[in-house]
Amino acid sequence: MGVFTGKIGVVMGVANERSIAWAISEALYAEGAELAFTHLPGPSSQRRVSRLVEPHGPKVLVPCDVQKDEDLARAFEAVGRAYGKIDFLIHAIAFAPPQELRNPYVEMSRAGWHLAMDISVYSLVAAARAAAALMADDGTIITISYYGGEKVIPGYNVMGVCKAALEHSVRYLAWDLGRRNVRVNCLSAGPMRTLSAAGIAGFDELRDHAAQKSPLGRTVEMNDLAATALYLLSDQSSGVTGETIHVDSGYSIVGL
Ligand code: NAP
Repeated sequence: MGVFTGKIGVVMGVANERSIAWAISEALYAEGAELAFTHLPGPSSQRRVSRLVEPHGPKVLVPCDVQKDEDLARAFEAVGRAYGKIDFLIHAIAFAPPQELRNPYVEMSRAGWHLAMDISVYSLVAAARAAAALMADDGTIITISYYGGEKVIPGYNVMGVCKAALEHSVRYLAWDLGRRNVRVNCLSAGPMRTLSAAGIAGFDELRDHAAQKSPLGRTVEMNDLAATALYLLSDQSSGVTGETIHVDSGYSIVGL
């Protein structure tokens, strides 16, 4: 029996074996959870995600472009049909046009800004609404942020603005869903080498700097993130909502 035996969750944002959402999923599987997955529509995304999840035989693996209301509706309908109710949602999705990320923030186009906000922030609101409708007496929702939403990290640009909005969305969602006993929290992760990170200019330098300057003096590993995610998704955090927890070796407390 694991801590998550009998618990059912939806995972949005597994791209490949290096995805943060996948590390959390593996830890959840080890604790007995049942998981449903969404992936970006298209044969390559589908192939990558199916290869990973299929050994676990998920009942639901559905395409879902979070920019499309109809995709979100179809995905959560499929989850509802398969399980009736769910216990948690993991939202680990972000995107900004790569070329625009490389430009200074002041050069950001209106269209690029809207696109980044839509995929990286509004998607949490829409997915939280759909997931909460499938939660019975209680539930938990988590999303993933980065310190660039609190301070200027050169090169993180519009994504930092998205993360600021994401973290504050977590607070408003926690308020709206709290009386239904649905908790909403955020994990602010230290830099991890994933597909999304490849779009951030100077990422390796940023990662080395964070490791050297942090109190723990090391990079954050996937198991650090997964352990905190499981805490936030489990009853161990029953009194915690609207919170952003840094899992960054302590980097965010250092001023110099
Ligand atoms: P990742 O593996 O690339 O995951 C990002 C996911 O977002 C991918 O599955 C991607 O799908 C999906 N996505 C993008 N646009 C989408 C859309 N329109 N509809 C549905 N899905 C879409 O990278 P990750 O680093 O694990 O990122 C997960 C979360 O952690 C993100 O919110 C990221 O900002 C955050 N985070 C990352 C770090 C880091 O250093 N890596 C640090 C702090 C926070 P496809 O790949 O199939 O396009």
